[in-house]
Amino acid sequence: MVAAAMKNQRQIELDYDARRQPTTSRYCAKCHKDIAPIAPARKIYLKGLFPRMVIHPGDLDGSEIEGIVGLDCAKQIGLKFTRPE
Ligand SMILES: [Zn+2]
Repeated sequence: MVAAAMKNQRQIELDYDARRQPTTSRYCAKCHKDIAPIAPARKIYLKGLFPRMVIHPGDLDGSEIEGIVGLDCAKQIGLKFTRPE
């Protein structure tokens, strides 16, 4: 029997670059570039810091932190791990 805490979530490690300092609150969680207010972005669901994991939107348990990524980064992560903003 699998405990609830060990629920099998589809997840991948987020290879992110935190060297860049965003200048607005709307920035990509992966490359830390600012995303213009009118530019499209995708939602991702994050867990943990070292490593930081991207949880599949179909496997959320409510403990994830929501973030956004730009479209290029969303494609690198895999669109199935993102949702429309
Ligand atoms: Zn990005």
